Amino acid sequence: MNYENDMKTMVFIACAFGILLNATDKKQLLPDSNLIPGNSYYGTGKYIEYIHGNMPLVLTAPHGGYEKPENIKDRTKSSVKQDKRTLEMTLEISDVIYKLTGKRPYLVINRLHRVKLDPNRSEEIAVQGDSLARIAFDEFHEFIELAEKSIYDTWGIGFYVDIHAHRSKERKIELGYLLDGEVLSLSDNDIDDPFFVQNSSIRNLVSNSEYSFSNLIRGEVSFGAMLSKLGWEVLPSPQQHEPTSEKYFAGGYNTTIHAAPEKYNFNGFQIETHWEGLRDTDENMKKFCTDFVYVLRDYLKLHYNIDITIL
Ligand SMILES: [Zn+2]
Repeated sequence: MNYENDMKTMVFIACAFGILLNATDKKQLLPDSNLIPGNSYYGTGKYIEYIHGNMPLVLTAPHGGYEKPENIKDRTKSSVKQDKRTLEMTLEISDVIYKLTGKRPYLVINRLHRVKLDPNRSEEIAVQGDSLARIAFDEFHEFIELAEKSIYDTWGIGFYVDIHAHRSKERKIELGYLLDGEVLSLSDNDIDDPFFVQNSSIRNLVSNSEYSFSNLIRGEVSFGAMLSKLGWEVLPSPQQHEPTSEKYFAGGYNTTIHAAPEKYNFNGFQIETHWEGLRDTDENMKKFCTDFVYVLRDYLKLHYNIDITIL
């Protein structure tokens, strides 16, 4: 055996060992079969919770967690503030859907406080060097991917909503389609440019829709229009095409990665909710979640031809 062959053998053994190590290192997040809709499954340390579903909808709550384990370092850069009661809101939306349809959406919840992990940022800013936070970050995104794959395999199409809260005093719901304020200030004609469509979080919907992109974003058939009809102030919507202040949340990392993957035929958006009149009391929160679910039902019927009440 010559030196070259020896080296090849060693490299082969090293690679095989590496693959083996990786395979045993990595936790299998979900059992291969018998997942039960409505049941919780957890990642490492129970930091990330996945709730299995049986309808083509994924909801994520990245900023509503409470847990601050001492063995995970505090994040010091970027925002560390919790989006108050968004974890509860996500569970409430799931309960309203269940009461209406008997079905459960897929949920992925970050139970860690944002001071420990912000999964709605690129990995470096999300975990800031902490190895346990990095595992939770990977698992958060892997759970979403597993949910989207499961939905795609069953329905061939799906919808994603990333649930947040803003701290502005304005009683306004902001929907983020990955179009910033400057883009929203353009005319409908300009906004219908394929470039903006391709960069938006509903690009897969646009290619199969009879409606124009601008109509889907802020016209009569938009999610904003439907929610506005129930008395909520929404941006963008027919009543408000563009932001009136500089602070507008166009959608973050989760929306960029998970709202519109072509391989799973998904669309979606980020939603930012206000405090007063929406999250501040149980009654207001219930009212919002109920309205949100009814709009979602009508939206999926109109744009996906899917009736979630008779799935
Ligand atoms: Zn947030």
